[in-house]
Amino acid sequence: MELAEYHALKKLPTPQGPLYLKRGVVRMDDPNYSLLAGTIEAGPGAALDLNPGSGLVSLAMLAAGASVSAYEERRAALRALEATARENQGLQVEAALPWRAPRSAFKTVALVLGAERGNDWVRAQLEAAACALEPGGSMWLAGGKKQGFERYLNWAQKLVGPAEVVARAGGARVAVLEKDRPCAAPKIEPQAFSARLRGRELRFYALPGVFSADEVDPASRLLLENLESTSGLRVLDLGAGYGALSLPLALEGASVTLLEQSLAAAESARMGFDAAGAAGEVLHSDVDEALPEGSFFDIVVSNPPFHVGGHVVLDVAEAFVAAAHSRLRPGGRFYLVANPFLKYEVWMRERFGNVRELYTGQYKVLLSVKA
Ligand code: SAH
Repeated sequence: MELAEYHALKKLPTPQGPLYLKRGVVRMDDPNYSLLAGTIEAGPGAALDLNPGSGLVSLAMLAAGASVSAYEERRAALRALEATARENQGLQVEAALPWRAPRSAFKTVALVLGAERGNDWVRAQLEAAACALEPGGSMWLAGGKKQGFERYLNWAQKLVGPAEVVARAGGARVAVLEKDRPCAAPKIEPQAFSARLRGRELRFYALPGVFSADEVDPASRLLLENLESTSGLRVLDLGAGYGALSLPLALEGASVTLLEQSLAAAESARMGFDAAGAAGEVLHSDVDEALPEGSFFDIVVSNPPFHVGGHVVLDVAEAFVAAAHSRLRPGGRFYLVANPFLKYEVWMRERFGNVRELYTGQYKVLLSVKA
């Protein structure tokens, strides 16, 4: 796949209006989204979509006459949603974390649980939804039976009010809750933890929903153990998370740029760099879209994602390989770490004409050199 193909927006006519999709966004046919879109009754008034993804649920609320605010924090989804909003009146897209939604401002809140991002993320989503609802407002909650829907519905009831499950299809569930109690403002604190990497004791910060939020991922550790000295080099960190790879490199003297599509992760990285007094450019970016043309690097490092919205999808990892190749100077080196079952070396060899396995075990560390 070429990078242009990854970045392309595709327009899809739906009975509710045109919807734009792109790679890297949760599938439109995700059962939780489709069931919620088919069930939700929004009606006129202000509605909030707190996990819009492809935007299917936002469109359903729009079609029912609501004016919709879609709060999304992932860049890939934002790019598609912004295109959708240009062609559907009444849809307002915000690049924002759920807990930044205004209080008591919405008659309807729609939420597809992001269970794949962990309990802290779900709790933050639910607290944000509860506070954003006006008294008497309705919360429409969707999730998967196997992804803990019942337990999360219990949490939601305590925060919002009485609930009724109104739709089931396969493992997907939708419940409606009516807000009958005051909400306590969400208290969102980053989790802080320390790790020793490349001979330094480092402190990291991770907001809810961020990858590997309580310890540095063992795969990322392995990449750092198999990496040359980067002092004085320009390093690009693709899918940087809270900066597990790039903070130690910045402190050893590399000049680092972080690309990260999750706002929660990008803000976490910013906190870690600021607390360490380290210089680093953190860009909220879908793969390399936020990087100015003509910026080139000596080294690219990555521990790429292989899920999108809980489904195994390799589009983003494939785009990372293409972006690494296009952003390296001749002679530049791309270090990637992955699970052995993922055959990234095929793409790396195709792109770079070479690939070496620097380490194999529970994970593999691969290196390609740009001609
Ligand atoms: N480098 C970090 C995080 C690795 S996990 C570490 O080693 O801990 C992969 C990261 O890629 C996640 O933070 C995820 O949010 C990010 N990501 C997923 N899709 C992306 C995309 N389209 N563009 C940029 N980053 C993306």
